[in-house]
Amino acid sequence: MFEDRTHQLKAIRDEIWDLKISPLYEERIKNKVSAVIGEGDHYAKIMFIGEAPGQNEAATGRSFCGASGKILDELLESIQLKRNLVYITNIVKDRPPGNRDPSPHEIKIYAPFLDRQIEIIQPDIIATLGRFSMDYIMRKFGLENVIEPISRIHGVEFEAVAQYGSIKILPLYHPAVAVYNRSKLAELKKDFAVLSKYIKD
Ligand code: URA
Repeated sequence: MFEDRTHQLKAIRDEIWDLKISPLYEERIKNKVSAVIGEGDHYAKIMFIGEAPGQNEAATGRSFCGASGKILDELLESIQLKRNLVYITNIVKDRPPGNRDPSPHEIKIYAPFLDRQIEIIQPDIIATLGRFSMDYIMRKFGLENVIEPISRIHGVEFEAVAQYGSIKILPLYHPAVAVYNRSKLAELKKDFAVLSKYIKD
């Protein structure tokens, strides 16, 4: 049966809201915060994938709206890319307590939702933000043999094949690296310039 993208993405949202098998579900209820599903253009050519929501994101339900989000906005502006033209999400959709790293078990629970989001949105390029999403996405697309530390492969485009056709993967540093170290911003901006050619008219 034909279902539009918004409809399919809402189904994912509903399933995550009710994801009682996640160890992070109880935390969400206890802290009266929100899952963060993802936001942006459902027909985006460029998809950004971060790690997991932080405090601001869980409080608002919006991806990258805190300190890292401000850096991300600055990076998008540096290539005149409007935020509403891209899709921004995370692997893990609930906030790990105390902003700790997501566990392998949490990644395993939430990753199938990310897989579905990718298949629905069908981006031309996925820009991973940080090593967790780089690692997950590169393995998912059969690039495990070319994984290296992010310090070596940030800003390098990799070719892969999705179920819907060809796709590029671009590992990027997590914007948080520039929150306390502004000198990293120039490097991030240089990497972001790679995305310019994917901006739709
Ligand atoms: N860090 C992430 O990885 N994702 C967010 O949404 C916010 C901060």
